[in-house]
Amino acid sequence: MHLELNAEEGALIDAARAFAAEHIAPHAAEWELARHVPRDVFQAAAEAGLTGVLVPRHHGGKEARHVVAVRVLEELSSACLAITFGLWVHNNALNAIERHGSGAPAERLAASMLSGQRIGAFCLTEPDAGSDAAAITTHALKVDGGWRISGEKAWVSNGTHADVLVVYAQTDASAGWRGIGAFLVDATGDGVTRTPPYEMLGGHALGLSGLRFEDCPVPDESMLLGPPEGFKAAMDGIDKARMFAAAMCCGILGASLSTALSHAATRQAFGKPVLSFQGLQWQLADVATDLEAARLLTFGAADAFDRGETAAVAAAHAKKFASRVALDGISQCMQAMGAAGSLMEHPPARHLAAAKLAHYMDGTTEIQNLVISRGLLKPFGLDAG
Ligand SMILES: Cc1cc2nc3c(=O)[nH]c(=O)nc-3n(C[C@H](O)[C@H](O)[C@H](O)COP(=O)(O)OP(=O)(O)OC[C@H]3O[C@@H](n4cnc5c(N)ncnc54)[C@H](O)[C@@H]3O)c2cc1C
Repeated sequence: MHLELNAEEGALIDAARAFAAEHIAPHAAEWELARHVPRDVFQAAAEAGLTGVLVPRHHGGKEARHVVAVRVLEELSSACLAITFGLWVHNNALNAIERHGSGAPAERLAASMLSGQRIGAFCLTEPDAGSDAAAITTHALKVDGGWRISGEKAWVSNGTHADVLVVYAQTDASAGWRGIGAFLVDATGDGVTRTPPYEMLGGHALGLSGLRFEDCPVPDESMLLGPPEGFKAAMDGIDKARMFAAAMCCGILGASLSTALSHAATRQAFGKPVLSFQGLQWQLADVATDLEAARLLTFGAADAFDRGETAAVAAAHAKKFASRVALDGISQCMQAMGAAGSLMEHPPARHLAAAKLAHYMDGTTEIQNLVISRGLLKPFGLDAG
């Protein structure tokens, strides 16, 4: 697929490729084994212009087209999806503050996030509310001059180390989703505690943890989006997030295919490279076809967003397909490498864990089917359930 890029766009993609090669690829396996969350990567990313990819130019960002952001994410995640997802959550939090925040405190926060000094996170999911995000019970109580937030959030990317939290909280339970607003919370302030990081099958560089809020004071000016705009913005944002997650799946699948091809071209069995066996060639040819299809769906969704279309269904198709073929295809790539494919010293084992995590992030595979089904059923006046 050919993408017309201007010089600045080409330079941004090149910067992402160089950044992945220098700051991510050499360390990603070590981060995983040591369960290390590399906070310093955010500052290095800022220097490379990778903290404000979607942020408007007049606020110091790159204001990149979605099709360009997708290419940036493919490059970064080909080295490690976990840290790429963390960086992207940070980008999105900064973008939300730039677009919806107001006043000097928001400006100060945004400047320190653009420089990578402060790190952002989104807190929507709760221990008892995941797919059904409108059912959150974390609440914001109106008090003189501000709000008091109480409740618990779960599965927060960058949760172990974020400084700036975008917290979704219910202001009026009787209003359902219409009562949900978005608040900017200082993670190091009063009333906020972090729960220990999750022990997962992989992806520890993402720093996933929960957060508890107990009577956490938030001034009026820190309401980022009042109800019902807070929840609407979260849902709009999640559509784009799904397309970006699809791009990251393309990155790890492409990287795994390259690793498998290089390995199989040199590994000998029965007196010849294993890549010369047709059975193995066809196995990898199928992976290549799936990768092409996943990339086309992802770029199709990105192009639709760039043209101002509501591309919720396109993004759901892309995320569902790309995460599915990443999980299957990376497994095939590891198979083509023999037992060596299972070693952590080769990236596909790490990428396989990330592909599984991608089935949950920004809405599960089943929720993508719900979005797609809604589109299919709409002409019949029926709702998907
Ligand atoms: C790596 C990672 C990063 C994440 N980052 C963040 C973050 O930064 N911020 C944040 O707020 N959250 C984050 N999440 C949470 C993520 O958004 C949730 O895990 C996701 O929304 C699913 O919620 P759940 O895990 O509670 O599953 P549940 O809602 O408990 O679902 C359980 C099962 O039921 C299925 N199901 C639910 N409803 C339906 C339905 N209507 N039809 C059919 N099947 C259904 C689900 O698909 C799933 O298979 C992250 C998760 C992961 C794994």
